Amino acid sequence: MDTLTANERSQLMAKIRSKNSMPEMLVRRLVHSLGYRYRLHCTDLPGTPDIVFRGLRKIILMHGCFWHGHPRCPNNRMPKSRLDFWVPKITGNRKRDLKNARELRKQGWSILVIWECQTKNAKKLLDRVSSFLSS
Ligand SMILES: [Zn+2]
Repeated sequence: MDTLTANERSQLMAKIRSKNSMPEMLVRRLVHSLGYRYRLHCTDLPGTPDIVFRGLRKIILMHGCFWHGHPRCPNNRMPKSRLDFWVPKITGNRKRDLKNARELRKQGWSILVIWECQTKNAKKLLDRVSSFLSS
C-alpha cells in the first residue's frame, strides 16, 4: 500500500530531487579539493548539467539511481505500488538523460556520469573523477 498523501509524496519528491543532494555535494567537495574550478547547473546547456568545467570542455553528471533509472542497480528498486505512475516517469527521465548526453557530446563535451551508488566507495570515486579530469 502506498500510504503517502499526495502532499507528502510531493514533499518527498522535492527532497529527493533537491539539487544539492548528498552525492552531488560529495563530488563537488572532491573536485574542489583537486583544485578544479567549475560552474553548477548550467542552464545554457542541454539538461542543465550539474558540474561543468568550461575550460576543459568536460561535464560531470550526477544521477540518482532511482530517479534516473540506473540499469541493474540494487539501489534502483521500483516501488511496489503505483507502477502506472512510476514506470513512465522513470523511463521518461532515462530517455531525457540519454538525449541530453547525446546532445552534449555532439557539441564537443566529454561526459562522466556518476551514479549515486558509485559515490559510496570514496577511493574509487576519487580515481574516476581525477582520471576523467586529467585525461
Ligand atoms: Zn546505482
